[in-house]
Amino acid sequence: MSDGMNLSDWSRQLAELGMLREYEPMARHTTLCVGGPARWYFRPADREALARAVRLCPADMSILPLGRGSNMLVPDGGLDTLVIDVSELNTLIFDGCHVHAGAGVRMSRFARQCAEHGLSGCEFLATVPGAMGGGVAMNAGAFAQQLSDTLVTAEVLLRNGEFLTLDAEQLCMSYRHSELPGQCVVVEAEFRLTPDHPDQIRERMRTMRSRRGGTQPLSLPNCGSVFKNPPGDHAARLIEAAGLKGFAIGGARISEQHANFIVNASEASSADIVALIERAKREVKLQFDIDLEPEVRMVGEWL
Ligand SMILES: Cc1cc2nc3c(=O)[nH]c(=O)nc-3n(C[C@H](O)[C@H](O)[C@H](O)COP(=O)(O)OP(=O)(O)OC[C@H]3O[C@@H](n4cnc5c(N)ncnc54)[C@H](O)[C@@H]3O)c2cc1C
Repeated sequence: MSDGMNLSDWSRQLAELGMLREYEPMARHTTLCVGGPARWYFRPADREALARAVRLCPADMSILPLGRGSNMLVPDGGLDTLVIDVSELNTLIFDGCHVHAGAGVRMSRFARQCAEHGLSGCEFLATVPGAMGGGVAMNAGAFAQQLSDTLVTAEVLLRNGEFLTLDAEQLCMSYRHSELPGQCVVVEAEFRLTPDHPDQIRERMRTMRSRRGGTQPLSLPNCGSVFKNPPGDHAARLIEAAGLKGFAIGGARISEQHANFIVNASEASSADIVALIERAKREVKLQFDIDLEPEVRMVGEWL
């Protein structure tokens, strides 16, 4: 450890700022229920604790923000990083048509609360299982809407421990993509929504939820869509046409219900899931000459 501090001093100081665990199994924190241990796993008590913790981190320690782990694939060998779980940053403030949401606010809670306040524009978030920081990082979207449609600013904590507020335009958001500064942590997002009757907003959310329920294999661990849809086509259609629906490697299987979902059917490893991802990419390239790009974030080191 550099910066004149030894590991036990450092970990003692972090433990005072939130919950710190060493070698924490990431399978507990990802919706795929796979992934080896994080060298350090830290859940700061609040944003000030987060900032102090990041300032205490030696410059050579890499940081990985974690939301609900609903779009994250962690290697079986784990992560040699400080994983920062932002779930305690969960304040939600309504100010007219503007809403400020902490990075740890679940997007489904955000959508429900917006409906209560008669604010429309984020109904689709009722169907996305992640938290707001992950939503900004991924530009979460569904039903032809995406988070960038209503995002005004995102406040981030930079790796040097300073807060910075960025306008949405500065994030150059596109389909499942945001250009965040390297290793920053999104701490808060501000949205501008449109007034509407709460009953009508709730009705739209109900319709979206029921359309989802019938098409996705939600009873087994998964990470939602594994691949982005290529321009003008659907990854699920291509994978199904390649004959891979139901195809399994180890404990992982391409869902029979939705071919762009990989499910952890029976104690899958990350290696099983990656092998299925590679197989689907290979077959779709061979048969249709289309390059599928993963939507799921493969974090850490992959051999
Ligand atoms: C059943 C199911 C259905 C889904 N449906 C959809 C859908 O309809 N539309 C859609 O877009 N996605 C969908 N997803 C994927 C996922 O929910 C979204 O991508 C979501 O935005 C990820 O949020 P998260 O908090 O789980 O992020 P995580 O999985 O924890 O992280 C994803 C990435 O974001 C980064 N990140 C997380 N938090 C922060 C932060 N505070 N600051 C900076 N970076 C951060 C992580 O480091 C990682 O690189 C689905 C997933 C599942 C399991």
